[in-house]
Amino acid sequence: MNNVIPCPSCSFPIPNGGGEETALVVCPQCEASVVRTTMGWQMGESIPVEFRSILPLTIGQEGHLRGELYRILGWGFYGGYADGRDYHWEEWWMVSESGDYRFMSYSPDEGFLLLKEIPSHITRPPQVGQTISTPSGNAKVVDEIRGELIDFVGELPWKASLGEASDYYTAMQDDLYFSVECGRGEMALFGGYPLEEEEVENAFGFEHRVPIWHRVKRFFGR
Ligand SMILES: [Zn+2]
Repeated sequence: MNNVIPCPSCSFPIPNGGGEETALVVCPQCEASVVRTTMGWQMGESIPVEFRSILPLTIGQEGHLRGELYRILGWGFYGGYADGRDYHWEEWWMVSESGDYRFMSYSPDEGFLLLKEIPSHITRPPQVGQTISTPSGNAKVVDEIRGELIDFVGELPWKASLGEASDYYTAMQDDLYFSVECGRGEMALFGGYPLEEEEVENAFGFEHRVPIWHRVKRFFGR
């Protein structure tokens, strides 16, 4: 089923692949952000769509990862500052053929991670060195960073706005990776595992197998 949302600004039929999970979508024609309200879809803030992904991925693209077919619904680009240096990362919101939602994040430091939101009883921000309780046991918090949303396109499962900031805490348990996100008084826990760069490239059929580091240098050098 492929729903559309009529853009309240320009009437363009915006694809709604995330269904009820989608809280915001950016119109690909007029760049308005359109938000779900109790009164239906309404205009959000207008945002300049710059789409500065360093990866050759686009909204609507499909690929098989770990036996599941995923379609890319939306994208967010984040920046943060910690330990005297800048960090950037991207998150791709995806839906699988069987209706599971995932975030695929990429940063030059951590590579690719496939994450899903998981239920949590965390009620306060953790501290580095502490352990947090996850469905698979205790995970140790290894770092924290304050990140800001710099750009987004496509669909997102929350009412995103440019410049919104959250605190991100990374926790590890063996090969499992957890991220606690604290923003606007809400806490969310995400868990998952790393993906090999090559399997992401194979999944989405990158045309040019340029080592990602070279793309990163090109991206940050401009
Ligand atoms: Zn529009």
